[in-house]
Amino acid sequence: MDEMTYVVSKYVHRDLQPVAEKAGHWLSEFFALKDVKKVVIDIDPDLDCWGECGERDDTEDATYEISVNPKQCLRDFVATIVHEFVHIKQWESGSWDGDGEAEANYLQYSVADRMWKEGVL
Ligand SMILES: [Zn+2]
Repeated sequence: MDEMTYVVSKYVHRDLQPVAEKAGHWLSEFFALKDVKKVVIDIDPDLDCWGECGERDDTEDATYEISVNPKQCLRDFVATIVHEFVHIKQWESGSWDGDGEAEANYLQYSVADRMWKEGVL
């Protein structure tokens, strides 16, 4: 586990918070995000989409913030977190094709299913 990467979900959701944290820790390692100090996963039922990701200002305490809508099935919820982590990987590596959506959409379910297969979730 990379010591420099922290994952916190702000919205207290009894079932989804531990899922988001486990997925976040595993994905930080899977995508080798060793220069990322912190990723906040905000589980937000008022989000008007399934998920989004933004960079935070250096003065704030997190490098990236992901928002995920909890009103979806568990596999889709985890796939959405994977999707947003692909965008973080793209920003960190400085390489993506077009808007990066094709890679994120391509990876989201295969990587999510791999977490179940490996017993992460
Ligand atoms: Zn996307």
